[in-house]
Amino acid sequence: MSKTFDTLKPYLDKAMAFATARNLFEWDDQTIAPYEAAEYTSKVVGILSDEYMKCLINDDVRKLIKKLKEDKEQEELTDKEKAIIKELCKTYEQLESIPPEEYRAFNELTLVANRAWTKAKKDKDYEHFAPYLKKIIEYKKKFAGYRVKKGQELYEVLLGDFEECFGIKDLDIFFDKIKKEIVPLLKQVANKSDTIDKNYNFLKYDLDKQREFNRFLCGYLGFDFNRGVIAESAHPFTLNLHNHDVRITNKYIENNLESAMFSVIHETGHALYEMNIDDSLTQTPVGTGASMGMHESQSRLYENIIGRSKAFWIPLYDKLVETYPENLKNISLDDFIRGVNKAEPGLIRTEADELSYPLHIIIRYEIEKMIFSGEADIDKLPELWNSKCQEYLGITPENDAEGILQDIHWSFGEFGYFPSYAIGSAVASQIYAKIVEVMPVEDYLKEGNLTPIREFLRDSIHKYGATKNTNQILMDITQEEFNADYYVNYLKDKYEKLYNL
Ligand code: ZN
Repeated sequence: MSKTFDTLKPYLDKAMAFATARNLFEWDDQTIAPYEAAEYTSKVVGILSDEYMKCLINDDVRKLIKKLKEDKEQEELTDKEKAIIKELCKTYEQLESIPPEEYRAFNELTLVANRAWTKAKKDKDYEHFAPYLKKIIEYKKKFAGYRVKKGQELYEVLLGDFEECFGIKDLDIFFDKIKKEIVPLLKQVANKSDTIDKNYNFLKYDLDKQREFNRFLCGYLGFDFNRGVIAESAHPFTLNLHNHDVRITNKYIENNLESAMFSVIHETGHALYEMNIDDSLTQTPVGTGASMGMHESQSRLYENIIGRSKAFWIPLYDKLVETYPENLKNISLDDFIRGVNKAEPGLIRTEADELSYPLHIIIRYEIEKMIFSGEADIDKLPELWNSKCQEYLGITPENDAEGILQDIHWSFGEFGYFPSYAIGSAVASQIYAKIVEVMPVEDYLKEGNLTPIREFLRDSIHKYGATKNTNQILMDITQEEFNADYYVNYLKDKYEKLYNL
C-alpha cells in the first residue's frame, strides 16, 4: 500500500464521477432524450468534461504522478496500482496536451455535429454534414499534432488511442493480406450467391416478438439483468457506467429478422466483458476493456464464430420457429444456418456478412489515412468513398446515406476506431482456435451450456480489465503474438465449405 497513491485516489474518484455523469448524458442522448435537447444539453456536457479535466490535470496530480514514478515509490505499489499509474500517464499525455477551452469546445461541437449527421443521413445530403466534419477534422489534427512524435504520422497517434498494439505498419501488413486473400474469395462467392435462398429473413417479423426473443437471447448468453439494461437507439451500442451497470441498445427492423438478433449477440459480447471485470478494478482508470480491438474480439467471437454456428442454434432453433411459425415453419435449421452465413457484397457495414466485413473496414482505414496525411479533399469524400467501394466490393452507393454518411463515428470525432473492428475479428479467430483446443466447445454449445466458454473468457481476458494490453493477453492465452492466419484460414475454410468452392 502506497501513501502517495492514497493521496492520489480522491482525485481519481472525482474524475471518475464526472466521467460517469458525462457517459450517462451520452446514453440519454442516444436513447430517450428529445431531439431538440442537444444544443442545450451540450452546454452541460461541456462543463462536465471541463470539470473532469480539472480533476486530473492540475499541479497536485502532476506532482503525485511524478513522485509515483520514482523507483522507491514503485516498490510500494501493487500491480493494480502500477497499471493505474500507467493508464493515468497515457490519459495525462492525451489530455494535458490539449488546452482546456479547446477540449470543451470540441466536446460541444461533437454533440451538435452528431445531430447534423443524423439530419444529413436522413436527407442523403453530405453537404449538410461537411462543414461540421471539416471542423472536427481540424480539431483532431490539432490535438494529434500536440502529441505527435518526430517522424510519426498524425493518424498513428489517433490509432494508438484505440489500440496501442497496432500502428500503421502493422495494419498495412494485415490489410494487405486480407485484400490478397479475401477480395478474390468474395468474388467467387458473389458468383454463387443465388445458391443460398434467404428470402425468409426479409418477411414481416412482429417488433414486440423480436424484442422478447432478443431479450431471451441476451440472457441465454449470460447477460445479467440485475446489472444491465437493454434500450433502443438508431445504432446499437454498449456503454458501461461500471461493472454493475452495463447498458446495451438494439434496433429492431420489421422486415429483417437477423439484424436485431446478431446485434444483440454482438453487444452482449461487449457487455459480458464489462460485467466480468474484477470488482477491485471497476471505477478505476483500468476498470474497462483492454482496448477497442480486444473489445471487438469479444463481441465478434460471440456474434460470428459462436452465434452463426449450427451447434449454437441446435438448442435454440425450435424456439425461434415457435416465435415466428408463419415465416419459419418450412425453413430447416440447415437452411437457416446457410442463410445467416450467406455472403453477398453490400453497401452497409453494419449489415455486412463476415466475409465482406473487413473490406468495409479497409475502405474506411484508407480514407482516414488520406484525410490525416492531407491527401483527401473533404468536399470530395463521397466520390473517394464510392470509388473504393467499387474497387473492393464491386458495387457503388446510389446516395450518401448508403455511402459516406452511413456510420456515426466521424460525427463524434472517432477517427482511428474502425481498424479495431477488423483486428477484433482476427483476434477472435486466434482465441477461438485456443478454446477449441482446451474444451469440447461444440458439445457445450449443442447442450446449451455456455458457462465454460464464458468462464474461460472471464478468467483469461475479462477480469483483468485494462491491466494487460492486447498483445499480452494473446501471448498469455495462445503463447503466440497476433497472427492473422487464423482469421484468413477461418474465413476460407468456412466459405469454401458453405459454397462448395
Ligand atoms: Zn462492437
